[in-house]
Amino acid sequence: MAAGIRKDLARRVAKLAEYRHATPGLAVILVGDDPASQIYVRNKEKAAAEVGVRSGVYRLPATATQDQVLATIRELNADAAIHGILVQSPVPRHLSFEALVAAIDPAKDVDGFHPINLGRLVRGQPCTVACTPKGVMTMLRRYGIDPSGKHAVVVGRSTVVGKPMSLLLLEADATVTVCHRYTEDLAHHTRQADILVVAVGRPGLITADMVKPGAAVIDVGITRVEGGIAGDVDFAAVREVAGWITPVPGGVGPMTVAMLMENAIEAAERHYHYAPAG
Ligand code: NAD
Repeated sequence: MAAGIRKDLARRVAKLAEYRHATPGLAVILVGDDPASQIYVRNKEKAAAEVGVRSGVYRLPATATQDQVLATIRELNADAAIHGILVQSPVPRHLSFEALVAAIDPAKDVDGFHPINLGRLVRGQPCTVACTPKGVMTMLRRYGIDPSGKHAVVVGRSTVVGKPMSLLLLEADATVTVCHRYTEDLAHHTRQADILVVAVGRPGLITADMVKPGAAVIDVGITRVEGGIAGDVDFAAVREVAGWITPVPGGVGPMTVAMLMENAIEAAERHYHYAPAG
């Protein structure tokens, strides 16, 4: 599905070039040398190249000050050839990720983390939606799983995944339960889920006895384990119970990157007042 979306996006990029003689520009700010971040950034660059988005990585040393990173953000805000900006998380501990995100022009906030975009999401207004929850909603839509009237259970309440995820499901008319580390009897809640989205970062958290037969199970978790990465769901056992299930790797991850490209292209289309047909 992610590959199909990337193909569609490449066509949108070609149209923008044809009608506006413009190419979407994405700036990724990478502070320090976190090994996982290097991989994520490389994946983003690869996807950008595939769909025709011009991407640039702005590398700052781990010792960079908040003011230095802010200065980079301000330059990119003012650069008309850059339509999308993101700060790769995590940033070194002496920096405030929140303050950096808040300094990004909301129109260029392709991660959808800016308070303006999150506020609009709460109000049900048009906004840039965080890539991971947007990818999950896209998967549900494309597989014909309509959340309307269904019981959706979201495990995890972060600003990056859990909270926007629950707001999007609410907006799609699901009845939403949000669980987190203080939830008592997690299994009691997950067993009621027609749609179960798990975004915690604890391999094996969701076992087969915690899943309602036929449920759609979306595993957002990524934990580095020996020999690769693992999700939060016991895939081998839960697939026997669930109606739908996403694997890790190869499920939500590639969709997230595809949505980032979509957000960057949408930002460029808005900038050039270009509305794609259909
Ligand atoms: P986070 O650490 O900010 O949030 C984790 C959430 O899980 C918290 O809200 C916490 O209350 C909850 N939690 C912790 N232990 C729990 C328990 N025992 N039972 C129920 N809830 C519990 O993490 P995040 O940024 O939301 O990411 C969650 C996971 O998703 C991580 O593994 C992360 O790597 C992964 N992730 C994947 C993608 C992707 O593209 N696939 C994108 C973002 C995050």
